Amino acid sequence: MLITDILRRKGTDVATIAPTATVAEAVSELGRHGIGALVVSTDGRAIDGILSERDVVRCLSRRGAAGLEDYVAHVMTTEVTTCGMDATIEELMVEMTERRFRHVPVVDGGVLAGIVSIGDVVNSRVGELEAERQHLSNYIMGR
Ligand code: AMP
Repeated sequence: MLITDILRRKGTDVATIAPTATVAEAVSELGRHGIGALVVSTDGRAIDGILSERDVVRCLSRRGAAGLEDYVAHVMTTEVTTCGMDATIEELMVEMTERRFRHVPVVDGGVLAGIVSIGDVVNSRVGELEAERQHLSNYIMGR
């Protein structure tokens, strides 16, 4: 299965935040959307970085409550691994496991086009395995 298939099902909306926003504003956005990461972007198209709940925790453990006033630009990860629409779920699973992150923004034509989380990958893999199981079961039972 390809990333484009996941996006067709879950949609292409991506929650973004400006690099000039504060960590407090990012926390509020993460909570409002019920998600674990925000793509950092000034225009919602070009990717400046990614900020996940891990970055927020790291910032607060280092700086205490004062870290809430830090700018997103100072806390985000700037070297962002992205994928294209034609990447496979297996490729993303390997990348996420080896590089130890749970979010991969999708880029199409140089523009932010979606985001895939580890939850999306696991859901889709479980769906594939269930379809395979059903297929084999039907085959064995001669249906
Ligand atoms: P996560 O597991 O996605 O919450 O992120 C763990 C760490 O990896 C955080 O420091 C994130 O900023 C960073 N991170 C998350 N996604 C990516 C990505 N696609 N490329 C590079 N770093 C990332």
